[in-house]
Amino acid sequence: MKNPAPQTIYLSDYTPPAYLVDSVHLTFKLGATDTRVISRIAFRPNPDATSKEFFLHGQDLRFIGARIDGAPITPDLSAEGLRYNAPDAPFVFEAEVEISPSTNTSLEGLYMSNGMYCTQCEAEGFRKITYYPDRPDVMAVFTVRIEGDLPVLLSNGNPVAQGEGWAEWHDPWPKPAYLFALVAGDLVALSDSFTTRSGRKVDLNIWVRPGGDEAKRAFGMEALKKSMAWDEEVYGREYDLDLFNIVAVDDFNMGAMENKGLNIFNASAVLASPETATDADFERIEAIIAHEYFHNWTGNRITCRDWFQLCLKEGLTVFRDQQFTGDMRSHAVKRIDDAMVLRAHQFREDNGPLAHPVRPDSFVEINNFYTATVYEKGAEVIGMLKLLVGDADYAKALDLYFDRHDGDAATIEDWLRVFEDVTGRDLRQFARWYSQAGTPRLTVNESYADGTYQLHLRQETPPTPGQDTKKPLVLPIAVGLLNENGAEVVPTTVLEMTQAEQTFSFAGLSGKPTASILRNFSAPVIVKHDKTNAERAFLLAHDTDPFNRWDAGRTLAQDLLMRMVCDNATPDTGFLNGLAAVLRDDTLDPAFRALVLRLPSEEDTAQALFDAGHTPDPAVINDVHETLKLHIAQHLQDTLPRIYADMTVEGPYTPDAEPAGKRALGNAVLALQSKLDGGKAAAQQFASADNMTQQLGALRALLQIAKGENELAAFAAQWGHDRLVMDKWFALQVSLAPADQAAATAERLTVHPDFDIKNPNRFRAVFGGLRVNTAGFHHRSGAGYNLLADWLIRLDPLNPQTTARMITAFDTWKRYDMERQRKIRVALERIAGTSGLSGDTNEMVTRLLG
Ligand SMILES: [Zn+2]
Repeated sequence: MKNPAPQTIYLSDYTPPAYLVDSVHLTFKLGATDTRVISRIAFRPNPDATSKEFFLHGQDLRFIGARIDGAPITPDLSAEGLRYNAPDAPFVFEAEVEISPSTNTSLEGLYMSNGMYCTQCEAEGFRKITYYPDRPDVMAVFTVRIEGDLPVLLSNGNPVAQGEGWAEWHDPWPKPAYLFALVAGDLVALSDSFTTRSGRKVDLNIWVRPGGDEAKRAFGMEALKKSMAWDEEVYGREYDLDLFNIVAVDDFNMGAMENKGLNIFNASAVLASPETATDADFERIEAIIAHEYFHNWTGNRITCRDWFQLCLKEGLTVFRDQQFTGDMRSHAVKRIDDAMVLRAHQFREDNGPLAHPVRPDSFVEINNFYTATVYEKGAEVIGMLKLLVGDADYAKALDLYFDRHDGDAATIEDWLRVFEDVTGRDLRQFARWYSQAGTPRLTVNESYADGTYQLHLRQETPPTPGQDTKKPLVLPIAVGLLNENGAEVVPTTVLEMTQAEQTFSFAGLSGKPTASILRNFSAPVIVKHDKTNAERAFLLAHDTDPFNRWDAGRTLAQDLLMRMVCDNATPDTGFLNGLAAVLRDDTLDPAFRALVLRLPSEEDTAQALFDAGHTPDPAVINDVHETLKLHIAQHLQDTLPRIYADMTVEGPYTPDAEPAGKRALGNAVLALQSKLDGGKAAAQQFASADNMTQQLGALRALLQIAKGENELAAFAAQWGHDRLVMDKWFALQVSLAPADQAAATAERLTVHPDFDIKNPNRFRAVFGGLRVNTAGFHHRSGAGYNLLADWLIRLDPLNPQTTARMITAFDTWKRYDMERQRKIRVALERIAGTSGLSGDTNEMVTRLLG
């Protein structure tokens, strides 16, 4: 059975909407299988329209009836929506439809999660609620009435009136339908308030279902207040309603959603307590709450003209939440974390069949473009722009953006124009960052003579699907020069590279310097620089730029791992001594030391080998990684117990950066120590831990050495009632299973009574765990591929969005040997040949198969 060819939508085909909407009145009469949605929408012809066709999106709706200006009409209905020969003058359209939230497992539109009604409308979920021009450039004022036998009935904006079994809401800010939200259920709030700097008192609530999660709301509330204060201070942006609601939902496809005044969160992205959440969870929650809150200005007040412009709101908002986390915690650590994420996810995307530009020029399902490229690379592009124009002009440009485009559905061209207007720069070449896919390679050669140091730089972007030839980009390259004592002879200087090849000179030096290139990861590129290991070790010991100091250690480790794979090399003492020096340096932030101690992932090594022209073997890579960890543990064995003891945190748990850094280093040391003591120290830490960071760190250390069976059982007995903690339990076992048992472990967990295919968090725990177990997923038996394919075929009819996202586990398949490629192709073709495959998954599998 062949599925229909995916239908592609092009950016170049954009046309303005035929009709605009002045106001929307919605009435919801809630019922689990029979919710009635009654709409009254004031339309008027758009003077800028090129077409007069009146078309409203609508999907999976049971049509009851419709009227125009009070007179019943009989529109043309199709699977995509409703057409009618509407007046060429303002009119009121009314419709009544019926939908079934309890059978909506796609988690798009209005659906039910544990007895709670909730919505997810981005990108195109509103069309599953009622007939509407479901496109972001149609913005309107919404008034909503909810009728239902539930104690809490919420929608966007401010409450207008309420009584027994009903509530009315009004949102004064015009918004696109994707920002619509409704929540109804038996919910309890943690309430607080925030007074904006102009004196508006805003009521804040975090809502959960009663019975367990109440104690996990306080941290999220503090993070929300910090975010509100930060956006006033740093961007001059105030909140604009009297109320801000957050609701935690168990079944959710994404992290969270910025619906105006009513953010809906995956419970995992908002709920935390010291006993149940790790330090990393706390930091992630703080960042996601900030991210969704910041969208109120970058996304909601200024939205996207069409979905091709998704990076306009996401790139900017990710950049803002990264700045926020840096301000709250450590800029150096945050930059390293962000670079690791970018390299692991976005570079991987760029190097495979799913590569696409930050602003794609075509898509089939926009859901498939909520990617690392749009989000994380989108944020990098803004960071480069800020570096090129400077902080002062960046601030001016942002002020102009908010002034000029408030209330608009804007484009990337609008965004770049404010920078051109403020700085007088021509950004046409810079704009290639939005249209050209792929990760640039920056090749560095250097020369020195008579006091002059020269950097010869060459940039090259490899071809990506649909883009064979690439043009030079504008690269801001931050460089510093160090003398032989490690002192800076040239402080950080930003070179602006615009050509394919360019040379930069530094004169007046008294000796050949060591260059520290791409400081603070100033551009999202891969640097190819044939430095000696002695030079790298020198930078690891002396670089004044923390990012490059970390990266020098990382490159040393990657180089060593590759030599171990290709040449059977043994770990050299130079590398091990460099690592030991950083670990023992008590003047360094423990969080930073923990990052230096962390080796590149097996996935990183596979990609590095592939880049160097080899065919990576995941089993060999796994062996080599384990061998190197053992060597490091043995080399550091006298130091480990002392560092571990030094990282003890006194007093009650707080998730702040400083104690979190100590716990991160303590856990990193514990993992090494376990390779020497058979898990003795880890078992002790597990038994005495009073917080999830240490409990989970100990469990991980044990599972890594194929121990911890009793601890796993104890963990399940302790946390069986807590969904979010049990997600960790599911994920950990699969991700750390020995390679030949990974698929069997995942399969065994799918028959566990607490496995639920309909819950995306649980599905991701098991199969995301399989994906990150590189050696296990790519085990030569093919069992990992087959199991994932089986379960994606099962999930697709229930939840296309999560299926399409999980299928990206296969996106590196072209780098492996012919036998693995053959097995993956069989798995992908089996998915592609499933009858009735969703559009989301069909597009992804088609792109993967190329
Ligand atoms: Zn976002």
